[in-house]
Amino acid sequence: MPVLFLGHGSPMNAIEENEFVQGFRKVGEEIPRPNAILCISAHWETRGTYVTAMENPRTIHDFGGFPRALYEVQYPAPGSPELAEETRQLITSAPVGLDDKWGLDHGAWSVIKHMYPDANVPVIQMSLDVNRSPQQHYELAKEIASLRKKGVLIVGSGNMVHNLRMVAWDKLNADEYGYDWAYEASSKFKELIANDEHRRLTNYQAEGRPFQLSVPTPEHYLPLLYALALKEGKDEVSFFNDKAVGGSLTMTSVKIQAV
Ligand code: ZN
Repeated sequence: MPVLFLGHGSPMNAIEENEFVQGFRKVGEEIPRPNAILCISAHWETRGTYVTAMENPRTIHDFGGFPRALYEVQYPAPGSPELAEETRQLITSAPVGLDDKWGLDHGAWSVIKHMYPDANVPVIQMSLDVNRSPQQHYELAKEIASLRKKGVLIVGSGNMVHNLRMVAWDKLNADEYGYDWAYEASSKFKELIANDEHRRLTNYQAEGRPFQLSVPTPEHYLPLLYALALKEGKDEVSFFNDKAVGGSLTMTSVKIQAV
């Protein structure tokens, strides 16, 4: 199976029709149909690593101040207790907890619903352990690499450039708007990804001010490291939804697929 990093951006992408939604839909059509999805979302941070293990994960509306229609969205994809258990057994560097309380947060459902609108592909989430360094997240991802061969689509959901404190709210509805530093960071992210410079990407804080402004907190960036860690010899990287919005966000998404 290919591996994806999806820039999810605003929760409104769940119910709007726009070019990003079209990008999610298109990638869903391009790749083989998965047996199940394992999603690492920016929006589930825990102490220790957990996987959702319930039969029927609830749709979590983990945001505030949006229109009622967004709170009414349900994404009733089944879970997969079997995949949760298999993932738990694959990871030997640390204990993995089986979670029965979380569900699907908007980092997962707001994008996966466009790829599989019938909600008939089982989805589990794996949490981000706040105690791990970026390099340790990267190494953890490698432990689940064999799931790709079993038809599991691994999706990291976040945003490479994600600075909510600097969002130009008056420009958020523009087609495209990015600050100079956001474009500079985005170009450099793509260059390092294309050249497999993963060590520099895990050590992003040493790469200067544009990266520091893009990643003020790590949670939206770390899902990218999971996707990159799963890249193997025959895989090629391509980018889509490669636009800046609101000045300080990029929707840039990555497809990693064998050629
Ligand atoms: Zn988010």
